[in-house]
Amino acid sequence: MICSAGISPGGNPAETTSSPGTVAGNCLDFNGKPATGSRLANLAQDQRAQARGRAIRCASCAHRITSTDAATRRAGAHRHTFANPAGLVFVILLFGSAPGATPLGREHTEFTWFPDHTWQVLLCGSCHRHLGWRFRGPHGLFAGLVDDRIVMGSSHGDH
Ligand SMILES: [Zn+2]
Repeated sequence: MICSAGISPGGNPAETTSSPGTVAGNCLDFNGKPATGSRLANLAQDQRAQARGRAIRCASCAHRITSTDAATRRAGAHRHTFANPAGLVFVILLFGSAPGATPLGREHTEFTWFPDHTWQVLLCGSCHRHLGWRFRGPHGLFAGLVDDRIVMGSSHGDH
């Protein structure tokens, strides 16, 4: 589903490094209202145990962000294409959790790509590159990671 009318984040990389203190220890945790409660809770344990799935990593530094097990859908699709106000097109992939990413700044309500959702910039938890956005809506949180800023690795050799 393409929502070209939606506009959002720009995710200015320069801004993302200005105040690292505000994001420390504030990882995606889904303590709010998980859409599928127990499953999301178990995902965190699965990812920690590296039990299954393939790692999704930061394309810049290879930090583990989430895994294929966390892939989720909104409006029937895992992959969405959006344009921001500057006309930049982002292809984002949706994940129910992204423990390796760190949210930055406040949650915005304007120009959201998903109706009734706020958005917040997500950075790589290691190199702080802008990787995507965290969205909060009536059914909880999910992460949208920019397709060309993440890579899929094997489940082996995780650190
Ligand atoms: Zn990184």
